[in-house]
Amino acid sequence: MSIPEARKTSLYQAWEKYEFNVGTRNAHRPAIGYTSIMQIIDISAPVRAGMHVYEGDPPVSIERAASIAAGDLANVTRLAFGAHTGTHVDAPVHFIEGAPGVETLPLDALIGPAAVVDATRITADIDAAALAALDIPSGATRVLFKTPNSALWDEPAFSPHFVGLLPDAARALAGRGVRLAGIDYLSVAPQADPAPAHEALLRAGIVILEGLDLRRVEPGAYTLICLPLLIPGADGAPARAVLTRP
Ligand SMILES: [Zn+2]
Repeated sequence: MSIPEARKTSLYQAWEKYEFNVGTRNAHRPAIGYTSIMQIIDISAPVRAGMHVYEGDPPVSIERAASIAAGDLANVTRLAFGAHTGTHVDAPVHFIEGAPGVETLPLDALIGPAAVVDATRITADIDAAALAALDIPSGATRVLFKTPNSALWDEPAFSPHFVGLLPDAARALAGRGVRLAGIDYLSVAPQADPAPAHEALLRAGIVILEGLDLRRVEPGAYTLICLPLLIPGADGAPARAVLTRP
């Protein structure tokens, strides 16, 4: 029995989706086969020497510890930077002494449907009233704020002039059942007083995802895939984060 051409196509697409989802991609298949069914937007900030780091945090150092050119068997890079470098998550112990480290962050909060919320017109830190005025879909459990901060990535160095969440907005997110809150610069809370909003989020069990690059991302519905490095006990961890949509 022959399979109609249209059916073959849908079978092929289903198989490709299956392959992508379970990660059994065939080496002989060009990657384009996967991007044709799913758009993947990298929202990670590249980790490189001289990049923006939060004021007072360790600078980024990336250097060759061994090098083929110098006669070594292989090239090996030594990395030195703070746990809150680039795109990263905060662990409860970041602001709460004795609290758990990044290894306790629930992976199911870091992977799943996410709303990129248009907060580009806000001009001040986000309080509960400003949060209520934003178009956050009801039931959204992962909320990424695209704010005027995005433009700061174009600055030559770290800027303290970013907007963040105020404590009452953090509590409002908890009240909405949000499990992950992300923002497009290096802190989810204003530099003048970062502790209260961080604490409110962390005590509510909300995963804080900072340092997102949302410059190329239109507000809307996506799937977030974010995997922080597994560094037991650490107060934060760099992460690769992508948004996908069918
Ligand atoms: Zn952080």
